[in-house]
Amino acid sequence: MAGATQDFDAVVIGAGFSGMYMLKSLRDKLGLKVRVYEAGETVGGTWYWNRYPGARCDSDSYIYCFTFDKQLLQEWEWTERYPEQPEILRYLEHVAERHDLKRDMQFNTRVTGAEFDEKSNLWRVRTDKGESVTARYLVAAVGSLSHTNMPQFKGLQSFKGKWYHTSRFPHAGVDFTNKRVGVVGTGATAVQAIPEIAQQAKQLIVFQRTANYCVPARNGKVDPDLVKARKADYDGIVERIRDSFFGQEHYFIPKSALEATPEEREREFDKRWDAGGFGFWLGNYEDMFFNKEANDLCADYLKRKIRRTVKDPVVAEKLIPNDYAYGTKRQPLDTNYYETFNKDSVLLVDAKADGGIEEITEKGIRAGGKEYELDIIVFATGFDAMTGPLKALNLRGRGGRTLDKEWAHGPHTYLGISVAGFPNLFTITGPQSPSVLSNMPVSIEQHVDWVTDCIAHMRKSGKTVIDALPQAQEQWVAHVNETVSETLMTSANSWYMSANIPGKPRAFLPYLGPEGVGGYRKKCDEVAANGYEGFELK
Ligand code: NAP
Repeated sequence: MAGATQDFDAVVIGAGFSGMYMLKSLRDKLGLKVRVYEAGETVGGTWYWNRYPGARCDSDSYIYCFTFDKQLLQEWEWTERYPEQPEILRYLEHVAERHDLKRDMQFNTRVTGAEFDEKSNLWRVRTDKGESVTARYLVAAVGSLSHTNMPQFKGLQSFKGKWYHTSRFPHAGVDFTNKRVGVVGTGATAVQAIPEIAQQAKQLIVFQRTANYCVPARNGKVDPDLVKARKADYDGIVERIRDSFFGQEHYFIPKSALEATPEEREREFDKRWDAGGFGFWLGNYEDMFFNKEANDLCADYLKRKIRRTVKDPVVAEKLIPNDYAYGTKRQPLDTNYYETFNKDSVLLVDAKADGGIEEITEKGIRAGGKEYELDIIVFATGFDAMTGPLKALNLRGRGGRTLDKEWAHGPHTYLGISVAGFPNLFTITGPQSPSVLSNMPVSIEQHVDWVTDCIAHMRKSGKTVIDALPQAQEQWVAHVNETVSETLMTSANSWYMSANIPGKPRAFLPYLGPEGVGGYRKKCDEVAANGYEGFELK
């Protein structure tokens, strides 16, 4: 490809929050020629694909949005505390139109592979439409939870009814009226979907492998005075969430749970339970993620709530987690989840205790030696998180290296934004960055701004190649693993630990640094200020 002409300055893969802002930033700030490829038929990314009943964001709407457009922060009115999937999609369509993004986006086009050419220092990108284009920079804005995990259940093909995965739900919706429905999985997605499906279905059978600790979302209209106050304080809010631990306005109680009196603890727990949302998870006692004894106190509170809500004590015990520390799996927020199991039409099958799902049959699901007859199965079985979407791109870096091989034992990245040997590739909210342990738009904007500044720096200084140094990368990997090893997170079989996919190497996927999102931002800024320390620039 020596002397190859360059079609684009940058190719961006994905038109969700990340790809949209990346395009906006590179095109409108730096004047770059950019092409975005998107497999969906429009913008939205995760919010385009995940259309299951009850799909909504678990972060409060006033912070689950772009902050680069200050005027839009004032103008946009979210209808509820947590935005519902169609509303987020409307919001993103509005942003696309407002910033004229679609003219540089090509929809219904999946990137099938890309190779870095070491002679021209360009990426050649191929799509399923037969195109082959070159670009100096390649930005993977593919999302952290976009590669569906559909377990290979024996007999699935024989099922005579209909089946769906939540992450690829039909756009026209599914009518569950008078149907016998099975839901497989009880993660954050299923916790949102189950109460909604139960309202329609004749019978709902939930196949649970691992019970979850749910906290009420307490969705609803937001007090107009609060909305007004937030709008007046948006600069302050943005500053605070950028500097915070999780990209949210939740702060740890600066005290050990073990030091508080039982009455004081109960008051603090009640406060967070009554407020709903992520406060119980991300704003609890500061040792909750570190000390099992402290963690047990938080868990016990939630267990009591389950026992109080679920009328059948046998069902309640099945719904109570018993083999991992609270908060080490993603906190699901619920609206009537536990109450749903009080309905006569809803049955809980503890698939793990009964030896798991044995097979899918013509008529339904066999678990624990019993066949459950179903008309529809909904698989809420999650994703091959973080590394899955990147591996699926079939990237080839220097010397033809692949992520499959480089990441055979788990992800190896520098700052979660680059991979040594894959020059000029940037991974927005990639593995080993705060990403999924933060409010995503905050982390997305931080990465996009950093990449934009980096490319601006390269252009100003006449450089055409940036590559992470293997040694800096290994130091980062060691730091990511060391910091998480001090927490309880590594003890759970969570998707954070890559434990949801058979054969996936056990590794912690995001980054949980000692100062969270704010500290990570500082680290990235320092790297840039020190002449992109840890990178080779040529
Ligand atoms: P998930 O958390 O990975 O849950 C998947 C569920 O399927 C788990 O209960 C899992 O059991 C079960 N499962 C997987 N393979 C199975 C098998 N072979 N047999 C039986 N059960 C099986 O996936 P998710 O609920 O889709 O959520 C993924 C992430 O998406 C969340 O953690 C969150 O970050 C994000 N999300 C965000 C929102 C939001 O804010 N709007 C909403 C939903 C999801 P085990 O627990 O035993 O693995």
